[in-house]
Amino acid sequence: CGIVGYNGTVDAKEILLKGLEKLEYRGYDSAGIAVHNEEGVTVFKEKGRIADLRDAVDSEVEAHIGIGHTRWATHGVPNKSNAHPHQSATGRFTLVHNGVIENYHLLQKAYLKNVTMQSDTDTEVIVQLIEAFSKEGLSTVDAFRKTLGLVHGSYALALLDNEDPETIYVAKNKSPLLVGVGSEFNVVASDAMAMLQVTDQFIELHDKEVVIVKKDSVVITTLEGQTVERAPFTAELDA
Ligand code: GLU
Repeated sequence: CGIVGYNGTVDAKEILLKGLEKLEYRGYDSAGIAVHNEEGVTVFKEKGRIADLRDAVDSEVEAHIGIGHTRWATHGVPNKSNAHPHQSATGRFTLVHNGVIENYHLLQKAYLKNVTMQSDTDTEVIVQLIEAFSKEGLSTVDAFRKTLGLVHGSYALALLDNEDPETIYVAKNKSPLLVGVGSEFNVVASDAMAMLQVTDQFIELHDKEVVIVKKDSVVITTLEGQTVERAPFTAELDA
């Protein structure tokens, strides 16, 4: 399973699909991408191979920002509705997740009694919590922080906000995730190999940091909101 993301100036679809193909070796049962353009966020997902996802993606939809996922099901059978990305009830937030949220059921009972779940995954609780906290007036990054403060388990996450076409939010805990930096673009990947097609400069992330990835900046912050400076390293691998 794996995660990719691209925020830049060229069409994101092909970079995301190629990235997911590079992560196929990790094993998966379904795959999906979400891209964000003037029309909002569009999700494509399928059970099965990346090749099936590729067939399902509408080549007309152009976007310069997007996230992608291969799923290894832990909660909920492998099917299209349990495949990632997952969206919040209003569709405002779109999330991909690798890992396991151990207390998802408790969080659902405590905070999401009135939300109709659209999947059987642990992941959906995260995206619904972000929406619930944003409805209470928190900014997206603060809603994301509050959610991460509540969830127990392992995660690599990439989040899109329908109301902000310029940003990918990412975080990790006990699951691998890197940010790759380029000129006028930045990327996200579980494994540098997925994004060697566009850059060999990567920044390591620490557990529970919240990272704001724009096309011309990467801002790493602690869960409490303090900015962290960290230089990229050069990935020495063959694409
Ligand atoms: N626990 C999540 C699910 O079952 C994510 C699995 C993964 O790491 O791909 O959907």
